[in-house]
Amino acid sequence: MTNNPALSTNFIQSIITDDLKNNGNASSVHTRFPPEPNGYLHIGHAKSICLNFGLARDNQGLCNLRFDDTNPSKEDVEYVDSIQEDVHWLGFDWDDRKFYASNYFDKLFDCAVTLIKKGKAYVCDLSADEMRQYRGTLTEPGKDSPYRNRSIEENLDLFARMKAGEFADGSRVLRAKIDMSSSNLNLRDPAIYRILHAHHHRTGDKWCIYPMYDFAHPLSDAFEGITHSICTLEFEDHRPLYDWLIETLATECRPRQIEFARLNLTHTVMSKRKLRQLVEENLVSGWDDPRMPTISGLRRRGYTPESIRDFCERIGVAKSNSLVDVGMLEHCVREDLNSKAARAMAVLRPLKVVIDNYPEGQIEQLAAENNPENPEMGTRTIPFAKVIYIDQEDFREEPPKKFFRLAPGREVRLKYAYIIQCVEVIKDEATGEIVELHCTYDPDSKSGGATAGRKVKGTLHWVADAGAVAAEVRLYDYLLNDENAADEDDFKAGLNPHSLECLTNCIVEPSLANAELGSRYQFLRQGYFCVDTVDSKPGKLVFNRIVSLRDTWAKLQKA
Ligand code: ATP
Ligand code: MG
Repeated sequence: MTNNPALSTNFIQSIITDDLKNNGNASSVHTRFPPEPNGYLHIGHAKSICLNFGLARDNQGLCNLRFDDTNPSKEDVEYVDSIQEDVHWLGFDWDDRKFYASNYFDKLFDCAVTLIKKGKAYVCDLSADEMRQYRGTLTEPGKDSPYRNRSIEENLDLFARMKAGEFADGSRVLRAKIDMSSSNLNLRDPAIYRILHAHHHRTGDKWCIYPMYDFAHPLSDAFEGITHSICTLEFEDHRPLYDWLIETLATECRPRQIEFARLNLTHTVMSKRKLRQLVEENLVSGWDDPRMPTISGLRRRGYTPESIRDFCERIGVAKSNSLVDVGMLEHCVREDLNSKAARAMAVLRPLKVVIDNYPEGQIEQLAAENNPENPEMGTRTIPFAKVIYIDQEDFREEPPKKFFRLAPGREVRLKYAYIIQCVEVIKDEATGEIVELHCTYDPDSKSGGATAGRKVKGTLHWVADAGAVAAEVRLYDYLLNDENAADEDDFKAGLNPHSLECLTNCIVEPSLANAELGSRYQFLRQGYFCVDTVDSKPGKLVFNRIVSLRDTWAKLQKA
């Protein structure tokens, strides 16, 4: 039925397989992804998207996109648009099944009226504080509200007047009448409608009462014919209420709620509320700042949808919360780009090298492979000239042990080119800073030459001044210093002040002069980089570092 290897270990798929076999609640599979449009989607949402759309795909079913917009004050069309863009970019499609919980406000109102008529809901005038007192605790049962036994007629009248706007915000709520002594606090007559005179981004000022999430969600699922309503673990205790509503209202469709563990990542803030704080307080450049764990941030950084889907597959679906190493996400994008990204040479912190015995004015075009992992990507040429640049890090005047790069008197190979030897170091007289190296080259050491096979310990990347292109390169580090600090209330105290390093004097090889926005490269020895889609312009190339080449996560797996 499926060629998806993760399915065998996915407990939700097992439940679905059983349901399909026993024709339990379903002869087909219909899931939904229900974001609240109060922020941009993040990598945690990607897990839910891959799961919901993936289960539908793997079981020949359908998955809806539903905006869970029952909370009018925090919502915005900007978020609605970004969410659709992100789901599409990840590679999933809802066809014509884009819904809004707010589309169901009339039907939800009718359901509430039905509950009242069945004697299963009542209007309660307790204040929020009083409601809390009456509610009891985990160890003590609650007490019945003095309004619990209002007549059906009175409840219908009051609820209609709530809708008509006669009462102030917070003065009354509609509550389900379930059981004030239940061991599950969610069943102690939960509020299902509240008064809120607020403008809604879709329904305008039509409503001044809004359904609570726990009421709207199961019923929206039922209206849409959802068979498996997959949500995160914190809703496990809400499931009895979910089931109570579905049973009491005897909806035609009987969706089944299944909970899974949400994704947490090391060094990563994952709550929309906190991400919004970072944006609003200008601690990042926006929701799409390449350091953000948002889908739009990851996209701008250079992550591929394939790598994110692969990551979501590898982390699997579990029943208990855990913290995933962000190194695993980085590993996935490295793996994906290794065979896809063209290689290029870039020097991030340039050090000028003059090759004394190379003819003045001569330029050679040397052949370079575009991707050794993928020969089909072909070759390009790179100019070589008397003046080249190497990275400052690749030269040490006093090299420590095991430093196999350039040093006075030492030889290294320049990738695709010659062996050079350092013969002189030129310093700024005032500062002592090294400003230029002089080298000689071995003219027979390039590919095909008599000494081409000569072994030297190090090979360096370089860029010749002929045709070199100026660029800005942005290096990113984690937003949070601590692996684990995302849950702390003052998470901002743990923000990494060095999460962005902007290098403005970089030079890249001529073939990148017309690099397309969003295109990705492996800069030899340095990592994977992506042309920034926002700040890169003709005449000003800006690259984001997606990841370095060092894969600590893969190493850990082998150890
Ligand atoms: P946040 O806590 O970040 O604000 P949320 O749960 O309030 O997230 P919603 O817009 O309500 O955000 O989420 C839409 C769907 O995505 C829900 O089904 C939710 O369970 C799921 N989801 C949200 N965060 C994660 C996560 N970290 N891992 C897996 N699924 C998630
Ligand atoms: Mg939510």
